[in-house]
Amino acid sequence: MPAIPVSQISLEGKKALVRCDFNVPVNHGQITDASRIDASLNTIRHILSHGGAAVLCSHLGRPKERTPELSLKPVAEYLSTVLGKRVALAPDCIGEFSGRMVRDLSMGEALLLENLRFHPEEEANDRDFSHELARGKQVYVNDAFGTAHRAHASTVGVTQFLRERAAGFLMVRELEALRAVTEHPAHPYVLILGGAKVSDKIGVIKAMLTRVNLILIGGAMAYTFMKARGFAVGKSRIEEDKVDLARELFAIAAQRHVPFVLPVDHVVAASAADDASVQTVSNIPGDKMGLDIGPRTVVEFIQHLASARTIVWNGPLGFFEIPAFAEGTFKVGEAVANLSGVSTLIGGGDTAAAFVNQPWASKFTHISTGGGATLEYLEGVELPGVKALEVA
Ligand code: AMP
Repeated sequence: MPAIPVSQISLEGKKALVRCDFNVPVNHGQITDASRIDASLNTIRHILSHGGAAVLCSHLGRPKERTPELSLKPVAEYLSTVLGKRVALAPDCIGEFSGRMVRDLSMGEALLLENLRFHPEEEANDRDFSHELARGKQVYVNDAFGTAHRAHASTVGVTQFLRERAAGFLMVRELEALRAVTEHPAHPYVLILGGAKVSDKIGVIKAMLTRVNLILIGGAMAYTFMKARGFAVGKSRIEEDKVDLARELFAIAAQRHVPFVLPVDHVVAASAADDASVQTVSNIPGDKMGLDIGPRTVVEFIQHLASARTIVWNGPLGFFEIPAFAEGTFKVGEAVANLSGVSTLIGGGDTAAAFVNQPWASKFTHISTGGGATLEYLEGVELPGVKALEVA
């Protein structure tokens, strides 16, 4: 049976271990984008207002051992402010002292455990560590969609010791959005792919070729495909060893009658620098690199998207971190957001980061909080963190 939503389990008098994705950007102790924390507030509030206590846990960054800069302290402070009640930070996620803090927690209160990845046993999905994590809690709630593609102690191992388990509201919403574009999508169905590398997205391209009617390609990965078609790519960032694979993907797409649309013009510069001198060209000169799709491509992409009924988008169409190369991503993004009668799913990671502060971002059907997890789901890979929530 699929995972039970947290709204359907009894929480009265129970301490819930809640796996969240609080892996937020932190600069000098300040959280610069709290949207991942905000995305789990509904689940936390639900547990606290239904007679339970929430023992929150998450990873932050990729520490190999205890690293003070990767403490979840700023997250505990942020949670205290937005929840309007003190959320203490336990100095470790396991151990006697933290265990005592869990024991002393009253119903209606929340506690945050320190960064799970201070222990290598977390990523190793270690059995004893999973057992320790489960200690003192009666329920497990997973709201960390962004790590659902990883079989770690806090996403998989712990479920051996906490039989009562549920999916948080964010997890439920993410899975519903993905099911909507996988199980019965309305056609025409268009996939927009961008970002840095073809190699990260081979699996998803192959899987989506059986579902979609059209693929629009931008970002650096477009240049590997352009090279495979024999176009000049200048100094653009390409994956030389993936050019043959790109040809193979063209052949599969042709068999399935799925057109691959590549950019027809480009914003180029000598380097990806803030002060670079920028040009728009149809043919990339030998000493320049393509850093954004050009204005004719923007118009062409928007025309292709006008009749779509389902759109899935993963990866920015240019080097959007620099404003001179962000226009393609934002113009196509705004056009997609303003389409009506279409289901739009924006894959997480950089695409979500690019759109999150745009005034039109709320018009997308769904912006996912998980990049890798979204790609693996679309590829047809079973997500271990979701599988572990299933009940017999
Ligand atoms: P990904 O994580 O694969 O989605 O890649 C996102 C990254 O690709 C972002 O940091 C973008 O700046 C980068 N990117 C997109 N287009 C280009 C391009 N034309 N040249 C270099 N980097 C790019």
